[in-house]
Amino acid sequence: MPKPALPLPWHADIWRQWLQQLTDDRLPHAILLSGLPGLGKRTLARALAHFLLCEQPDVNHPCGRCSACQLLYSGFHPDWHGVYPEAEGKAIKVDQIREMNAQVQQSAQRGGYKLVLLWPAEAMNINAANALLKTLEEPEPRTQFVLVSDQPSNLPATIRSRCQQWAVKAPPLSEGSNWLACQLTDEQCPETLLKAAGGRPLQAWKLASPELEEPRQLLLQTMETLNRGGDPSELAARLKSFTLADLLDYLQAWLADTLRLQLQGEAGVMDSRQLPLYRHWGQLFSARQLLNLDAHLKQDRLLLNKNPNHELFIEKLLIRWTQELGHE
Ligand SMILES: [Zn+2]
Repeated sequence: MPKPALPLPWHADIWRQWLQQLTDDRLPHAILLSGLPGLGKRTLARALAHFLLCEQPDVNHPCGRCSACQLLYSGFHPDWHGVYPEAEGKAIKVDQIREMNAQVQQSAQRGGYKLVLLWPAEAMNINAANALLKTLEEPEPRTQFVLVSDQPSNLPATIRSRCQQWAVKAPPLSEGSNWLACQLTDEQCPETLLKAAGGRPLQAWKLASPELEEPRQLLLQTMETLNRGGDPSELAARLKSFTLADLLDYLQAWLADTLRLQLQGEAGVMDSRQLPLYRHWGQLFSARQLLNLDAHLKQDRLLLNKNPNHELFIEKLLIRWTQELGHE
């Protein structure tokens, strides 16, 4: 049998406060869960929703057995309304909000709560946000909105002010490591990954996945070949599977870590899996050159929304890298 949706260990404080509000019958009409990616905000949102819809909940978790729970497992609970972009990176459109508005104006089909889960909330375009605002201003009884956002400052202030905002924070390192250790294989080190992920446990888990390990290795090898005099055009072709944003993320994180290694020693480094590369870059480049490279990457990032030619963009980036190598 599938497991009920449950909060993660570091959500305990929010979960407790929320249960208290539920017990006291003073649940806010709309909740906004905010925080950096990789903290399990969606898991928490699902757990809240599942608990509210379960028809025979235990003290602090859904039963997992009642017919509402069974419907949730099948993905067909009639009072659960998920609003998400049609594809990653796309906007949430006004039609999606209108459709949801029409559904929640009807009474709950199973007689309990109606749940609306919406993420990423910052993906709503302005028309969608306005349509949602109308519904938030005239709340239907027993209708619970749960919005999730990595970037709440990108939401209209009018939406934010209609929600009770709960910030999901990273757990202490030991708590995060304990959880992460249960998800990893024995040879993976939870502390190293957690540090590389800035303390965010789900982000750390993602870093350990083979899907991310392969591109990391590919980029590592490519940059090492470049440093040994490899041809930028040939190497650019190797990196065609990267999105440009991911490529910039990797390189900026690695440059920042190389500088940390120089300034603070190994203890300051975020991703210690990469120490050999950082040491090598530290020998090849002065601090000023590292900062130059970083400044160029920041400039490159501004070009991303201008739809640049993918291969040319990477080739130019690599050529600049070799130019920086060539002079001090
Ligand atoms: Zn149940």
